[in-house]
Amino acid sequence: MTENDLSFEGIPVSPGLVAGPIAHMGAGIEEPSPDERFAGDPASAKELIQAAAAATKADLEFKAASAQGEGREVLTMTAQMAADKTLVKQAAKLVVNEGVSAARAVWVAAGTIAAQLESLGGYMAERTRDVADVRDRIVARLTGQDLPGIPERPEPFILVARDLAPADTALLDPAKVIGIITAEGGPTSHTAILARDLGIPAIVGAGNGVLRNLKANSFVLLDGAKGRVSVNPSVEDMERVAALSRRKAVFNGTGQTKCGHRVQLLGNVGDATSAMAAAAAGAEGVGLFRTEFAFLDEAVEPSHEKQVEAYRAVLAAFPGKKVVVRTLDAGADKPLPFVTDMSEENPALGVRGFRTSWKFPQVLTNQLKALAAAAEMETADVWVMAPMIATMPEADSFVSQCEELGLKTAGIMVEVPSAALTADRLLSRAKFASIGTNDLTQYAMAADRMLGSLAQLSTVWQPGVLALIDVTCKGGAANDAPVGVCGEAAADPALAVVLTGLGVKSLSMTSRALADVAEVLASVTLEECQELAALALTAVDANSAREAVRSRLPILEELGL
Ligand code: PEP
Ligand code: MG
Repeated sequence: MTENDLSFEGIPVSPGLVAGPIAHMGAGIEEPSPDERFAGDPASAKELIQAAAAATKADLEFKAASAQGEGREVLTMTAQMAADKTLVKQAAKLVVNEGVSAARAVWVAAGTIAAQLESLGGYMAERTRDVADVRDRIVARLTGQDLPGIPERPEPFILVARDLAPADTALLDPAKVIGIITAEGGPTSHTAILARDLGIPAIVGAGNGVLRNLKANSFVLLDGAKGRVSVNPSVEDMERVAALSRRKAVFNGTGQTKCGHRVQLLGNVGDATSAMAAAAAGAEGVGLFRTEFAFLDEAVEPSHEKQVEAYRAVLAAFPGKKVVVRTLDAGADKPLPFVTDMSEENPALGVRGFRTSWKFPQVLTNQLKALAAAAEMETADVWVMAPMIATMPEADSFVSQCEELGLKTAGIMVEVPSAALTADRLLSRAKFASIGTNDLTQYAMAADRMLGSLAQLSTVWQPGVLALIDVTCKGGAANDAPVGVCGEAAADPALAVVLTGLGVKSLSMTSRALADVAEVLASVTLEECQELAALALTAVDANSAREAVRSRLPILEELGL
């Protein structure tokens, strides 16, 4: 096989078509030898390691301050990891007990922490890359080495790496790094999340072949929507890339089909910064405010004042507009120390979401009171919903509590298959439903949403998942209660068309996706959406559902989506 025939496939995580030369990530920090001994008094090791960890933390905090949005959050989280006392304590103990060098001790202690995270699986396992990044930074400081990092090139390039450290990804300049290909990583790794946030086309999990066979400076075509890389693109490919790069997608603030059928296009937000970004991108409101994001670093329940302040900051970005606030969704991949039982064997199926209010009812009451107070002070139209509702008594209890506290528009998230199947009854009580397709898919397919190896099962294109969405929409229609979608599926333009055809009234997504979804939606009539929905619903499997719908939407190819 010649280099011209080379092509690779990976998991598509950030759409877009680009072409450019390859540059590889700089070499990593070498593992310090076990034979290296600690030179001074072992009692001083703790101080030495602590100083290197503190300097690493300060460096990451500085980087966080110059990053934006998701990048800033990731860097702040990585900086917290550098400040982790366990790492310093365990490393210092290794120096005292085994006499190894400080760098070797940090390497081994970080390995133990990474192994613990790995054994937890899912989201936690994907954080091992973050631990390795912190380890490399501390070891580099202790040994006086340069940090591995993004190559410096005068021309824009497509970056190839085994995996990317969050600190590197968060500071990528999209004008320089025009595409990303990683050998490892899953659909929810930080590389994937940040690439989407920065609008850089990316594929992950493409295998070690990309490290070995894509030579530096080889010219490649990267299709982030299809998950494909090919060497030496044709003239036609290059013309398409050039035409697409001239396109500037903007959203005019009104989501509708070609025939004028309205579909609200809303933003998913976690704090004031992302709310302002959503407003700037034209979002018609907020379809999902993940309140737990504001509290992930809190050891105790935040005070009433602190909560009111956090909620007001988001509401203020959408005066007079709809803002759907989700109550704390703690547990599983988002544990909160003041409500989560960390000893559960299977946290995705444990006491998470609304269920935490069984043991801590006051936390929910306090949150609803703070929300009601924030709603009083701002003009946004506040809707409230509870995550992980599975039964009618839960829906009834939540809606009653909201109503007692003056929050009139109370709804539920549909993330558990039982809620989808009984939506006709649940929506006789709840005023609206928002389908969390990420969790609904995970529970319908019994496939951990964080596992890259289950990516073919973890897709909303699965006919079983589409059937659950269909039955939820029918339950909404029977009660005249609007059903929206706020999972990642809403950001996929082809799925947005199918969801509209199934009867979904609003789609909530990351701000970057708004313009593309709006453009594709505006190219089809409601009747066409319904035809495509029927096609997807009756397909034999996920791939044929996706292919059948995509082949009827040539605009996707035209826009490189
Ligand atoms: C979902 O499950 O689709 C959802 C929107 O909630 P989260 O991703 O926060 O679990
Ligand atoms: Mg969810």
